[in-house]
Order: sequence, then structure tokens, then C-alpha cells
Amino acid sequence: MKKNIMYGFLFGAMAMNAFAADEIFTYKAGAFDVYMLVESRRQGGNSSILLNVSPEQIARYIPGGSYESETNTFVIRQGRRVVVVDTGFGGAIFDSMKKLGIDPAQVEAVLLTHLHGDHIGGLQRDGKALFPNAKVYLAKQEKDYWTQTNVNAGAVAALAAYGSKVETFLPAELGAKLTEIIPGISPIAAFGHTPGHTLYLVGSGGDRLLIWGDLMHVQNIQFPLPDVSVSYDTDPKAAAAIRRKVLEYVSANKIAIGGIHLVYPAIGTVRPEGSGWSFVPAGN
Ligand SMILES: [Zn+2]
Repeated sequence: MKKNIMYGFLFGAMAMNAFAADEIFTYKAGAFDVYMLVESRRQGGNSSILLNVSPEQIARYIPGGSYESETNTFVIRQGRRVVVVDTGFGGAIFDSMKKLGIDPAQVEAVLLTHLHGDHIGGLQRDGKALFPNAKVYLAKQEKDYWTQTNVNAGAVAALAAYGSKVETFLPAELGAKLTEIIPGISPIAAFGHTPGHTLYLVGSGGDRLLIWGDLMHVQNIQFPLPDVSVSYDTDPKAAAAIRRKVLEYVSANKIAIGGIHLVYPAIGTVRPEGSGWSFVPAGN
């Protein structure tokens, strides 16, 4: 069950905005309603961030060197429970939630894939938690890295706003026995982009959605050539290795995926193609 929410056509002024009609994509994963919220979108991404790639490969998969990219967030609802995965820059997420009739105070948990600024920008303003009743969940490895090993002021401030409501966990390895942190939602380790980068598996049985953070930044080239990493990866080799494993896993197990930097609808399925994979957006 998939449907687009065409809010843009409800308001004359908004219809002028080319992106108003596709800022929210709704998807069903078992008992969960999943909303993919577009936080920002841009055309003209910079192919110089790509690593382990030849000019010929760039020319083939990113003709003209320009590609579309997004930053997204996900909201998961089951009955009265509301969970958010990543918070973008803290801009459109709040407008989109309002359109969905969800008050940030209803959110019981914010699950973080990692602590880069474009994923935690909506956690706090001036030290005040913007999800006042939420616990914040993240991998222990991620928290330790950015608050002890390679201290980042933005990450420290974002977590500080939640004080004792920050909960850490040790995510399971891909394919190992999972532990739910919220009923029906389990974290999976995908270290490489950052030392504690985490995926969240939502749903059960044949209706599962794996939400990833920065497993991939440039889908045009990283689905067909998963060994291509980006300069934002803390460990580009580890990032490439886990990307291959995850693509293989979701393809073999028929698990849908959702990506923070995939382009609208940013949810779909993965299938093998050549020596890599291709992405089939939901709704197609
Ligand atoms: Zn990142």
C-alpha cells in the first residue's frame, strides 16, 4: 500500500512550489505507517566527493557531472506511537509533521543513524529539546566517537539537550539475531560512514523496511558501483564493504529500503543488476 500525499495541490500558493506535491511519501511496513519527509533537495551535486571511481564511470552514471540529492527524515507511526528517524536540519521536518497532524511532543523516540549535522539539526534549539517527550537512541560506538574520541560541539549539544533521556545500544551485525529497541524496530550495525553508523529495520515478516542513513549519498552511481565511497565517509573502505553486504542482504531477503539521502520517494526495493544493483522506487 503506497500513496502520495498531494498536499501541494490543496493550496494555491503552494502549487507554485515545484516540490510541494512531493515533500511527503507515505508507505506501509506491516503495522507501521512510514512517512518519508523531504527536508531539502538540490540539483547539481558535486562528483568530486566520489572516491574509488574513474572519470569514465562518472561520465557513464552521472552524465554532465550533476545529480539530484536530498536530505530526508522518516516518521513512523503505529496507533498512538510516533517515532522519528533522524531530524534533518530541523527545518521542513516540523512543517511536514504539522501537515501530518503530529505534534513533536507526541514523539516517544528519536532514532539516530549517526551524529552528522544534517541528521541531528532538528534535535534542539538553544539547548532546548525540540522533541520534549522523546528519548534519543543511538549506537554507543557513535556517541563515544563524537563525544570522546573526535569531539564535535554540535553532536555534544544535540545530545546534551536530552540529558539522561539519551539511550545507547550495541547494534546487531547484519544477519545476526536482532534486538528491538522499540516494539517492531531493531538497529543493525553498518559502520564505515561513521564509527557507529546504524540502520533501523522496521516491521516483520514479508513487510519490512530497512531505513538507512548515509549508506549511500549518490544513488545514480552507488547502486551500480557499490565500491564507490564518498569523502564524507570516516572509513571509505569499510563503508563500501558494508554497502555491498546490505544491498545483497535486502535484495536476497526482499526487504524494502528507505534512505536519508535517496531521492523522492526515497523508499523502494533493490535488485541485482550486472555486478551491482539497481533501485526500484516504491510506487513503480
Ligand atoms: Zn553522514
